[in-house]
Amino acid sequence: MRVDLSGKTALVTGGARGIGRQVCLRLAEAGAVVIINYAKSADAALSLQSEIGQNAGIFRADVSKEDEVRAMFDYIKKTHKRLDILVNNAGVIKDNLLIAMEQSEWDKVLDVNLRGTFLCSKYAAEMMMANKSGRVVNIASVAAVKCSRGQTNYAASKGGIVSFTKACAVELAPKGILVNAILPGMIETDMSARVRKRAADAIISAIPLGRIGAPDEVAALAVFLASDLSSYITGQAIPVDGGMTVS
Ligand code: NAP
Repeated sequence: MRVDLSGKTALVTGGARGIGRQVCLRLAEAGAVVIINYAKSADAALSLQSEIGQNAGIFRADVSKEDEVRAMFDYIKKTHKRLDILVNNAGVIKDNLLIAMEQSEWDKVLDVNLRGTFLCSKYAAEMMMANKSGRVVNIASVAAVKCSRGQTNYAASKGGIVSFTKACAVELAPKGILVNAILPGMIETDMSARVRKRAADAIISAIPLGRIGAPDEVAALAVFLASDLSSYITGQAIPVDGGMTVS
């Protein structure tokens, strides 16, 4: 069995770094044309584009801002004509204890993680409906189901993404669009660097497989869910967490 995405166009939000970067590389390796969205990491996006070659495009947009998301989809319509795969990967954390949390910390996390997923899904679904097919993969987190102190905003955003995924799956199934979520556990990227540094031993002891995950282990599932191999799976939230959520 081989994943073949040739002829498909994919958009990966926050694609220049971390998990998103690996998803871009794997989608391109499977033959897809990949649009790398970024907000701040222009150099990383350009460098990834040149690493992938002619099958990559880049577009700067803050996914929490509707005018910028609309402009990104106008570009995709004009330049690529179609969109087959959307990976909603862009995300931020701003941890703080509930009683100390500023509204700005709450809003930022909900705006990027949840509103960004909503906005990109909305515009992507419109394009995918024209072809009566599509795949949306939402990168949520184990934080949606297994909560840590200081993450009320992040857990709410990721729990929201899981519920949003299920509701989208029901609504879009008749249009041939499949929507699933991935719940990564502790993955080695910039986002998790601080907590890994602070509590590496405690984290590892809570993971049955006994190690931190790699971005590529999330990317592998994203590519599967983006492909025809997952044709009877929709509305699911699948952990990639070394067993963290079952221990
Ligand atoms: P990361 O290395 O910090 O990357 C975050 C990405 O999100 C960057 O590419 C960043 O782009 C993008 N981004 C942030 N704000 C954005 C905005 N407003 N508009 C567009 N893009 C934006 O983190 P990561 O670990 O790869 O995280 C990727 C996803 O996995 C996130 O949704 C995260 O919540 C989820 N996740 C990660 C872990 C983990 O342990 N690492 C665990 C569970 C879930 P720029 O650099 O261009 O701003």
